[in-house]
Amino acid sequence: MYKEILHQFTIKCVICKKDMKRKHSNQKYCEECAPKRAVQLKRKWKRDHYIKQYSTRVCPICANIFNTRLPRKMYCSTECQIKQQRITRYEKQIMRLQLEIRRLRGENIGSM
Ligand SMILES: [Zn+2]
Ligand SMILES: [Zn+2]
Repeated sequence: MYKEILHQFTIKCVICKKDMKRKHSNQKYCEECAPKRAVQLKRKWKRDHYIKQYSTRVCPICANIFNTRLPRKMYCSTECQIKQQRITRYEKQIMRLQLEIRRLRGENIGSM
């Protein structure tokens, strides 16, 4: 019985396998390993979000050639990214307006 209670409050650190007192319910690492783990996770994040080598891309807005390690980066600058966002917004508006024109002309546009 006593052992069971003890088990609830002590857990083994996932990294160094040392017994430690549990302070919060989802704790997995001891105080020594927790910061190391945080560094590891940060590295993993970088590995997942950055590619190893710079890749050369062409910005679809200004046609600038730029290098990036971020696989999702599409535009050379935030300026171009904002421009693209604006373009997308305008394109949506145009589509809506075209639909409205067709509706006014009595064209059957079906149910959206
Ligand atoms: Zn540890
Ligand atoms: Zn650009």
